[in-house]
Amino acid sequence: MRYKYIFGPVPSRRLGVSLGIDLVMSKTCNLNCVYCECGKTDKLYNERKEYVNAEEVLNEVKDFLDKKPYLDYITFSGSGEPTLNSKLGYLIDEIKKITDTKIAILTNGTLFYNDKLIEEVKNADVIVPSLDAVSEEIFYKINRPNKELKIEKIINGLVNLRKNYKGKINLEIFIIDKLNDTKEELDKFKDVILKINPDKVQLNSLDRPPVESWVKPVEIDKLNEIIKYWGLDNVEVIKKYKVRRAIKSYSENLESEILNMLAKRPCTIKDLEFITCLKAVEINKYLDVLEKEKKIESYIGERGIFIRLKS
Ligand code: SF4
Repeated sequence: MRYKYIFGPVPSRRLGVSLGIDLVMSKTCNLNCVYCECGKTDKLYNERKEYVNAEEVLNEVKDFLDKKPYLDYITFSGSGEPTLNSKLGYLIDEIKKITDTKIAILTNGTLFYNDKLIEEVKNADVIVPSLDAVSEEIFYKINRPNKELKIEKIINGLVNLRKNYKGKINLEIFIIDKLNDTKEELDKFKDVILKINPDKVQLNSLDRPPVESWVKPVEIDKLNEIIKYWGLDNVEVIKKYKVRRAIKSYSENLESEILNMLAKRPCTIKDLEFITCLKAVEINKYLDVLEKEKKIESYIGERGIFIRLKS
């Protein structure tokens, strides 16, 4: 069976060996984050609906699980925002009926003002919502949202999620130099973190080339300084894999396939998605390794960010 909606398993920094489920087509999102690794959001969606057929998704998951693979998590993530799919809750419940594997949701966290969504996700084991800004101005600069979204409403939604959801919440904050790491924003962040009360806060910074080339990675020392400044005991830096090969789901075949493509010509992430039928999120895991091993490099070309073999 050739899968359209599930991908991986991918070696995930946060979740170990994770089978991905993409509930929207590339790229359906209500944000257009400057650091997005899946490319620009051409149209901002904010309506919850069945963007892809839930029964087809479920059939793929069943087919995959029949092979008894090793998995740490089944994760809703992919080429856009999974909570936009109105069948998310149905799928969580149906998957729970057929496997004991834990379920995670990687989400931009913008839609929890919707009580129905909070009810739908109640059986997920872990929710990883992002929150990159706590003031409206910074929210617009970093996340460039659909106009219906307001940061106060989003924060209240996350507070409400915490009150009503019994699983783990790991709040992810993507730090961008001189934007959300100012003293003023960090002070507001601390108040909001205390209000939301997540199990963990995970600080992240740039790993792969972003949509906007002016977004630069923040050094790990800077992230550690932020942790010290806040003085909260549940904040950590997301660990980067140094050797992803050591992870069970790393596929040497996929790596060769990507390297063969790049040997022919430089490609964008979209080119690689098209040629390999993999999702951007999956391709990026391999590019991380290859970049760290100095086998490939990125540059800005006419159609955006290209990846080529390093000479
Ligand atoms: S990073 Fe996530 S939330 Fe932001 S634009 Fe990309 S897919 Fe959407």
